[in-house]
Amino acid sequence: MDYPNSYDVIVIGGGHAGTEAALAAARMGSSTLLLTHNIETLGQMSCNPAIGGIGKSHLVKEIDALGGAMGHATDRAGIQFRTLNARKGPAVRATRAQADRVLYKAAIREMLENHPNLTLFQQGAEDLIVEGEECRGVVTQTGIRFHSRTVILTTGTFLGGVIHLGMQNQSGGRAGDQATIGLAQRLRELPFNVGRLKTGTPPRIDGKTVDFSVMEEQWGDDPRPAMSFMGSPTEHPEQRCCFITRTTEQTHEIIRGGLDRSPMFAGDIEGIGPRYCPSIEDKVHRFADKDSHQIFVEPEGLNTHELYPNGISTSLPFDVQIEAVRTIPGFENAHITRPGYAIEYDFLDPQDLRHTLETKFITNLWFAGQINGTTGYEEAGAQGLLAGINAALRAQEREGWYPRRDEAYLGVLVDDLITMGTKEPYRMFTSRAEYRLILREDNADLRLTETGRNLGLVDDERWRRFNEKREAIETERQRLDTTKVSPSSEQAGIANQYLRSPMKDGMSLSDLLRRPEIQYEHLVEISGERADDETVSDQVEIQIKYEGYISRQQADIERLRQNENRPLPVDLDYDAVGGLSNEITEKLKAVRPETIAQASRIQGVTPAAVSQLLIHLKKRD
Ligand code: FAD
Repeated sequence: MDYPNSYDVIVIGGGHAGTEAALAAARMGSSTLLLTHNIETLGQMSCNPAIGGIGKSHLVKEIDALGGAMGHATDRAGIQFRTLNARKGPAVRATRAQADRVLYKAAIREMLENHPNLTLFQQGAEDLIVEGEECRGVVTQTGIRFHSRTVILTTGTFLGGVIHLGMQNQSGGRAGDQATIGLAQRLRELPFNVGRLKTGTPPRIDGKTVDFSVMEEQWGDDPRPAMSFMGSPTEHPEQRCCFITRTTEQTHEIIRGGLDRSPMFAGDIEGIGPRYCPSIEDKVHRFADKDSHQIFVEPEGLNTHELYPNGISTSLPFDVQIEAVRTIPGFENAHITRPGYAIEYDFLDPQDLRHTLETKFITNLWFAGQINGTTGYEEAGAQGLLAGINAALRAQEREGWYPRRDEAYLGVLVDDLITMGTKEPYRMFTSRAEYRLILREDNADLRLTETGRNLGLVDDERWRRFNEKREAIETERQRLDTTKVSPSSEQAGIANQYLRSPMKDGMSLSDLLRRPEIQYEHLVEISGERADDETVSDQVEIQIKYEGYISRQQADIERLRQNENRPLPVDLDYDAVGGLSNEITEKLKAVRPETIAQASRIQGVTPAAVSQLLIHLKKRD
């Protein structure tokens, strides 16, 4: 049957990408349908119950600045919060929160159910309605035809999913959920390039059977950071301790003894797994000289005894899992509540997408999340948000939008994916961004809230609070610039206690703060005043201390932007460009970059090759 209502946007899949996509589209005023297998699993964390971490919290804060859900849900579900790299520079500082799975799902579901313009429907999507080269809707498992202007596909690890546990395997989207088969076949018939990837999860442990006294305790930070710009520690539920233990020589021996029954080592898994998050059997095999690996023992929630042993993801047979786990200090009598397993699934080559995540071959169809070859909730959520924004813009007949690499980690993520594709599950690292000092997690709100407001994503309350903060930063910077300390004053006496060499001439408070030995707290002592809000003083301190480096990066960006404005014609004959190696010519022909800047980021395309392209374009003009 044809469903009586038609929608601006249909989102398939209620994971991290799908929920952000649906919420973004609905926030922008589009009538949105979120179609998912099971309403009970909306926002489900398939693997570790944690949000954020290095590189990843940058994405969460960007999602948040654009009005998204992940930061809010984390503040409502977080049972332990920490700032990672607190002693390192601001570019690599990151917030990480352990989350209660049930509270996280509940927070996401509440936002979805109470959002205007957003409708939920529980059923699997079996097919896409494609007319010519345009997507027009979705057909469900029972044959209901939903019509829409745009469709976003966010099916995660479900497409053709196969779960491996030892030598046994079965079809599944993740443990306990059916795989998506019909739609996977349909996508293979359409002109997309499909590949296989793999990921895995550790066995879960019953905390009642664990001896915590032999493990190292790890508490969260005090004071606690919040994840959302609008969040506060007062929202956080009760906080919990995590623990640290380690594998032993004996654990490794048992694992080595089970490798002949490992689907990975026996060749049953063809998909490539995440290099930076390897299974324990992989770690034992690859780092044979290491006699121990660290395990973070993390609670799964407030009302459960289940624990997530972070660091021992495995698809070894269950008998090997139980034997190996019981050689780990504290786990001698451990009961496994859920076996670890690996999952193989289809992903679609992200080089078939535009920067907006719309597919190149079928208009009005977007892909977001794990389906594009990424791994991680944060990477999925960020893509979902971008796809949701662009589907809503299309429905409103507005131009598409995406952030550049120098504006957001989301810009880096998407540009990396569509330019280079990926051969293994892609996760975000701060090292992937060229302009790390500009793309900090602490300034995500300053970088993106205004854009979010213009797109229709940021509500009045956030906008008001954001403007207050922006003005407070400006006022504080002016105070530090204009407050002078004369060398003969009492304030200079205080400053001299901290300065490496005493003041000779008058200095402003900003000048003093530029000195490496002076911190904002010293200025408070010198001037007797401070900004009301710590996030304001932190921001001002970072802006002033790193001013030199920041302006240098901004100058680099400016230079690149001049090139970015130079489009590369789609029909450019790369064989006719002089001075390019065959390899580079082939790469350019395969990717067909839209701009010079995009060409420059293709692996192997050298600055010299970029110069040749520029010369060729000049000759053509
Ligand atoms: P998902 O969260 O998978 O959500 C997909 C959604 O689509 C689900 O709601 C599903 O029901 C729905 N759906 C699928 N097909 C259909 C259909 N045809 N019709 C309707 N609805 C459909 N990430 C890490 O960062 N580190 C890890 O160590 C890690 N390990 C993992 C281990 C396992 C076993 C699994 C399964 C995942 C792991 N992940 C890990 C990945 C992480 O869970 C994903 O990156 C993230 O959940 C992706 O979000 P998503 O929204 O793209 O997809």
